[in-house]
Amino acid sequence: MAVSIFLSFNHTSAGTPAVIPQPESISSSGNMLPVSKKITLSVESPRNVAKSLPPASFISEMTGLDIRYGKKSRLKSSCEPESYTLYINGNKAHLQAADYNGFIYGLHTLSQILSTSDSITERITVTDTPRCTWRAFMLDSGRQKQSIEKILALIRMASRLKMNRFHWHLTEGLGWRPEIKAFPMLTAKGAFVGKEPEQQGYYSREDMRKVVEYASQWGVEIVPEIDLPGHSEAALNAYPELGCFGTVPDVPAQGFTENIFCAGKDRTVEALTTIIDEICDIFHGQYIHLGGDEAPKANWEKCPDCQARIQQHGLKGTHDLQLWLSAQLASHLEAKGRKAIFWGDAVYSNDGTPLPKNSVIQWWNYRGHGDLAVRNALERDMQVILSPNYYCYINFPEEPWKGYGPERTFNLEKAYTANPADSVLARGDKRILGMTCALWTDYNLTEQMLDLRLFPRIFALSELMWHKGPRKPLAEFQSDIDRLTPMFKN
Ligand SMILES: [Zn+2]
Repeated sequence: MAVSIFLSFNHTSAGTPAVIPQPESISSSGNMLPVSKKITLSVESPRNVAKSLPPASFISEMTGLDIRYGKKSRLKSSCEPESYTLYINGNKAHLQAADYNGFIYGLHTLSQILSTSDSITERITVTDTPRCTWRAFMLDSGRQKQSIEKILALIRMASRLKMNRFHWHLTEGLGWRPEIKAFPMLTAKGAFVGKEPEQQGYYSREDMRKVVEYASQWGVEIVPEIDLPGHSEAALNAYPELGCFGTVPDVPAQGFTENIFCAGKDRTVEALTTIIDEICDIFHGQYIHLGGDEAPKANWEKCPDCQARIQQHGLKGTHDLQLWLSAQLASHLEAKGRKAIFWGDAVYSNDGTPLPKNSVIQWWNYRGHGDLAVRNALERDMQVILSPNYYCYINFPEEPWKGYGPERTFNLEKAYTANPADSVLARGDKRILGMTCALWTDYNLTEQMLDLRLFPRIFALSELMWHKGPRKPLAEFQSDIDRLTPMFKN
């Protein structure tokens, strides 16, 4: 008779599972057995999930395992959103999923456990629940345009790291990417203002719908960003009349200019509203990102229409005018039942027009302003997403490169052990929704270079977003990374 033992995994020993991000708990008992990749999966889930479980062929492809469904039953206990409990016993697995994402995450864990060892203990139990409700990956498709295939691959990577949102930065001075039917020149002209080969082109409505649908199967919601009023040189090349002076602006290869959308002209506000409506038609998630970063006000200071708007509404100046414009557009989203996200620049000063209740602030400029945006947003009782450039801007290279000097570099250890986002999360304030890691593509960070930036630091960021408890020592975490990295690169 086999002697059954109970043990907690020693993560450094061979044959034990590596899972990233680290689950809340893993326990195991029994003898070591060869891994079977042919699995019968029974699922306990709420009724709405049970009715829409994807076909076995899809989950087999997703996990790299040969899975057939066993018994499906209704989950009776209540669980935290996105949580799951997974029992593995030889060639049988039983998954209790709180919701669709809990189901997907349980499968990702199953896949990692069975794909990284030749033998595992007879019985394994994993219980898991996320630290943050907002766990996002951001891709800049404005400065460089990526293929749809690469975007889908990044969505798979994000899902496998148990991230639930893909923030898609779609517009930049160097390119307007989303097709808008009411303003066809935005893509006919604005998608071709950059000079580099990967700065050409746009995403059709069909492309974007395909991305939305694909992401949804992987438990990921797309958060589209239309960056305004700044970073809009491409849009103003297409429609100069939406700027303050009707002139066609130069498109800088790097950085941004004072050529921004005019907030004083009604036709500009109406155009932006129409664009937002079309974006809402394609992207069905709750959140629409309206940018708001880095919008120099030199033109607004001189523009008669902008100055008239300031007078008309008794605004405190051009920063307040940006708040007024942001509030108009956020209110428009509120009427459609959506939420608006703005970069932290919106709250550098807490003077002026309040943003409506459906507005969320995304903190980014730790290098320039410390945690000012977080403090001011919380003072206004607003919800916050954390993306401090130290150390959530994964485009910052590990070694100096082009415009990135030594002061704008960081390594895995910094991301994992000294992340300002982690310290803010540790306060436990419910208004802090979670984290987004951002991959900007300035200095021509082309598609084939993206993985160099992502790996291995993306693992550390996913760990901060997902894992609640004490963290593994860096050396152990590195060993998990070494075992798992190939699973995330396809
Ligand atoms: Zn103006």
